[in-house]
Amino acid sequence: MPKCQRCGNEISFASSRVPNITPWANGVLSALTGQFEGEELSYLENLGVHNQLSQRVFENPRQYFDTCAICGSTKVIWP
Ligand SMILES: [Zn+2]
Repeated sequence: MPKCQRCGNEISFASSRVPNITPWANGVLSALTGQFEGEELSYLENLGVHNQLSQRVFENPRQYFDTCAICGSTKVIWP
């Protein structure tokens, strides 16, 4: 699972590769936020991302989740 080096979060991550384009979702870092459970991406919070892309994210989460959704740090390490 990924881990934030700054705050130690191991659960909630966002993707800077998929910027938030939804004007009503204020303060959200990304259109995609993933919730991890152990090694697995258990839940994808999707703000208007195409199905095809969210499928790709599910298959390659480490390519997408590079930002901590708790503190906003990009110092995310993957094992
Ligand atoms: Zn953090």
